[in-house]
Amino acid sequence: MTAPYTAAARLDALLGDPWDPGNPYGFAAGTARDADGAYPAAFAARLAGTGFPLAYLPPALGGDPRPLDDTLLLVRVAARRDAAVMPATLLSCSAVLTVLAAGTPEQAKTAAEWVREGRTVAFALSEEETGSDILAGRCRLDPTAGGYALTGRKWLVGRGATADAAVVVARTAPRGPAAFTAVLLGPDQLAAAVRRPAQPVTGMRGIDFADLVFDHVPVPETAVLGRAGGGLAAAMRAQQLVRLLSTAACLATADTALRTALRFTRARRTGGVPVAETGHGARELALAAAELMAADLCSLTAARHAHLAPGTFGLCSNVVKRAATRLTASAIARARSLLGARGVLAHGPGAVVDKAQRDNAVVESIDTSPFGVLRAVAAALPGYAGPLREPPGPGDHALGPLLAYGDPLPDLDPAALDLGARPRDPVLLGFAAHADEIEARLAARGAERAAVLVRHVRTALERTTAAAAGLDRGGPAGALGQLDLADRLCLLHPAATAALAWWAHPERGLYGEEPGGAGWLTAVLAVLLAHAEGRAPRQAAPDVLPAGPALARLDDARLLFTALPVPLADGPGPKESETPAEPDEGDETT
Ligand SMILES: Cc1cc2nc3c(=O)[nH]c(=O)nc-3n(C[C@H](O)[C@H](O)[C@H](O)COP(=O)(O)OP(=O)(O)OC[C@H]3O[C@@H](n4cnc5c(N)ncnc54)[C@H](O)[C@@H]3O)c2cc1C
Repeated sequence: MTAPYTAAARLDALLGDPWDPGNPYGFAAGTARDADGAYPAAFAARLAGTGFPLAYLPPALGGDPRPLDDTLLLVRVAARRDAAVMPATLLSCSAVLTVLAAGTPEQAKTAAEWVREGRTVAFALSEEETGSDILAGRCRLDPTAGGYALTGRKWLVGRGATADAAVVVARTAPRGPAAFTAVLLGPDQLAAAVRRPAQPVTGMRGIDFADLVFDHVPVPETAVLGRAGGGLAAAMRAQQLVRLLSTAACLATADTALRTALRFTRARRTGGVPVAETGHGARELALAAAELMAADLCSLTAARHAHLAPGTFGLCSNVVKRAATRLTASAIARARSLLGARGVLAHGPGAVVDKAQRDNAVVESIDTSPFGVLRAVAAALPGYAGPLREPPGPGDHALGPLLAYGDPLPDLDPAALDLGARPRDPVLLGFAAHADEIEARLAARGAERAAVLVRHVRTALERTTAAAAGLDRGGPAGALGQLDLADRLCLLHPAATAALAWWAHPERGLYGEEPGGAGWLTAVLAVLLAHAEGRAPRQAAPDVLPAGPALARLDDARLLFTALPVPLADGPGPKESETPAEPDEGDETT
């Protein structure tokens, strides 16, 4: 069997040691660009030759498609160096996936051609006044002879100041979800829009997020994607994949923050003991490691789910966004705190972790807001009460391929994504069907604690969905309760994923553990249950502690913090007392 995710390892080798202060694709260069608010243009150009934009295009459109788990890891090894390079890795994905989900073959061909030529296609859905209340959007397409006139303002459009083309979703009827139409604007039509200057942002600085203003811009009938009135549905289907893809930035920034904190705390001594080996240091590192592992498995599994069962991906696409943003933000906060005073110094490790934290925070607000994500999960939750209380039997949830990280997958079919809320999530149903078996197998291997935690996850899932089904959703208390239950589900779903990942492939050891080893699983389940139940995660420390040394072993072996090894180009990095130098004169800072 060939090693999985070799493309990510090759890309990392190509980009070189990120700790080298002279490397234009390294941490020091990234923090210098960030300080200047500069886009990583040369870094983006370097990636242009690596096939990124072709990764999500079908072969018929000149693409070189990769499984999404492969793509996510490729993005992670690039974005761990500087998350502002994200647009170059997933060039135009929101817009192009909307075209692939709803457009005609001709429109798909046009958009694919633009992407292959390296042009940027922006995606303009959100409006400042209406925010998450998408159904209240005001930007409108008024019928004219031969087409429409587009009028209104779209805000914070990624690459809005520089894009060559755009997908715009605008109102064509007074009310309801079918009141919106998506149009593909080419360079000529976009030239008629006014582009407001990019808004300064606190993270992913250098990417232009600009408003697009339309004043009776003529749009031909042929620009309509799919059918008039189908725009929101098309965009929402594509956003399912975009939410998943954005988790690459969360995980990339968490990798960098933890690697920095890990190296600092192993070198820095207090009372003669490395900080990493003190009670507090070891506990914080372990909690952060377990949080990162949980987010990593959730993201990798969701990527495979999108290929294998796109029609059931809706719930998972929201869970993965919420879980990955929340867990990685927590891990990064721990990493920063471990740096002590250096965590607030604007140079050295503090600068690297500060940038990682600000970049990470941006992900929560792009594509779908946290409120929008939780609202969508809350809507799906009650439907799972019955199936989780009385699982329909093992069934075929394609669990083997779902959890076989790195194995080949069927081609992605964005047109098969579905907005229905029927309870069909393979992780939740598969876990309910196999939880007894997983528990028994863990106990038989002597992993009693993991077995107990699996039972807790099962009980918590049943209670959470039953409570959602029993809620009176009319009043404000009911609405709040729904959101809280949705948030809990977003932590229990990754716990179910982790248990299944251990069970489905006993021949594979994850996170550097021997095959069937359950140390990582115990840590991940314990930290997720603590978060889900509103307990301080530190109370779970006895179960979580082994995750810290596991993370250290991955860094020692120069491996990405992910389930299966991805070799990295990292050198030893600076000693605790050293401050990473500024990049060499002449290196890219613009
Ligand atoms: C860096 C960045 C890049 C972006 N790129 C793009 C892009 O390329 N294309 C694009 O179309 N959009 C883009 N956006 C816009 C973004 O997707 C939307 O703005 C976002 O989905 C919602 O915006 P909001 O925070 O104003 O919404 P809101 O949800 O209105 O948020 C404001 C506040 O209201 C609260 N709230 C909202 N509804 C309710 C409710 N019913 N009950 C209680 N509280 C509520 C929220 O929790 C929040 O506290 C980008 C945004 C950012 C920050």
